Amino acid sequence: MTINVPRGTVDLFGKQLQLFNLIINTARDVMKVYCYDEIQTPIFEEYRLFERGVGETTDVVQKEMFIFGDDENRYVLRPELTAPVARFIVENTLNKQQDLIKLWYAGAAFRKERPQKGRQRQFHQIGIECVGADSPGCDVEVISVFESILQKLQIVTYKLYVNSIGCANCRKDYRNKIKEYYLPKLNKLCKDCNNRYERNVFRLLDCKVQSCRDERTDTPPMKSFLCRQCADFHKCVLDLLSKDGVKYIEDNFLFRGFDYYTRTVFEWRSSQLGAQSEISGGGHYDNLLADIGGDSLPGVGFACGVERLMILLENNNPLVPQKQLVYGIYVDEEQKDAIYSVISSVRAKGIPADMSFITKSVKSQMRQAGKQNAKYVCILGKDEADVGKIKIKNMSTGEEKLVEQNKIFDFLQ
Ligand SMILES: [Zn+2]
Ligand SMILES: [Zn+2]
Repeated sequence: MTINVPRGTVDLFGKQLQLFNLIINTARDVMKVYCYDEIQTPIFEEYRLFERGVGETTDVVQKEMFIFGDDENRYVLRPELTAPVARFIVENTLNKQQDLIKLWYAGAAFRKERPQKGRQRQFHQIGIECVGADSPGCDVEVISVFESILQKLQIVTYKLYVNSIGCANCRKDYRNKIKEYYLPKLNKLCKDCNNRYERNVFRLLDCKVQSCRDERTDTPPMKSFLCRQCADFHKCVLDLLSKDGVKYIEDNFLFRGFDYYTRTVFEWRSSQLGAQSEISGGGHYDNLLADIGGDSLPGVGFACGVERLMILLENNNPLVPQKQLVYGIYVDEEQKDAIYSVISSVRAKGIPADMSFITKSVKSQMRQAGKQNAKYVCILGKDEADVGKIKIKNMSTGEEKLVEQNKIFDFLQ
């Protein structure tokens, strides 16, 4: 019986892993420009962190977490990384050392969901958290960071949606209004929405089920319920985005799944992703740090799905560079050690190089060079070896040259 990769997980290899690394490296470059420091937190945390941070009424905490340990020490595989980063800030009182805390992360997250395209049980996120300033400028900077990553990856098929969900004050009236609106419609809504009605009624607004979407058309927009401060803040965010040349669409139904968001929320979506159209999303949070026992500090962040970006890059024929591989070939067993020295000298210059250690014919070594997409092959036979030379062939042009063994680099460059 074979042992398979667990349901909802994948092995990353070859082209897929190249895309994965391209995304992480691109993000890393952008983070440097925006002055965010990298943070890596453990892949599991105390259960309480997400119960308090993400919110015990959310879908994620209610049914999507991998929980382990015993009653005394209950742990979960992290379902998201904002709460862990907030935990790190609180635990190390970073706000005592610096005014504005700017952190970014890349790592795996876990959710016990039914796997489908673009939705895995182990998936990867890149994200940032900007904590400490209650400024619309921070919200806009966070949005610009992800816009910049998309541009660097040359992804153009996306749209940015923005909304304000206000603060606890302005949401109180809105909650009542929404409950009133949906009460006579409950029998037309999906099972999830019926559950959400009591514990998290705002999630009814961004349910993806079509019949639920049909029912929401006449809902009053959150916008008209914003208090003065929240309305001013939102106007500032939108003005700054326009000034920054960021194109956005106002979406009154955008609420996001986590309890910690207040005021600005945003989401990038692409029609190329099908049902799971979200590439990235995030928002402003005023109470998260206090909720997990820290000082009351506002923050804002986004998290993007690396696997979703991979799907988009696959569709867009990405910019994974071709390998400049040099492949060493020996004609007889006697030249094996000598070709190994040549390969070593090429590697020492930082150029990828490989050879076969299994004694095979020149023909089958050539075939292997082709399989590995080698740009050059170096062929060493007795005749060449006797005079300290080696034959080099450029695989794309077919050009061949006999050169001194210590001069191969002139030909490679
Ligand atoms: Zn408000
Ligand atoms: Zn629904």
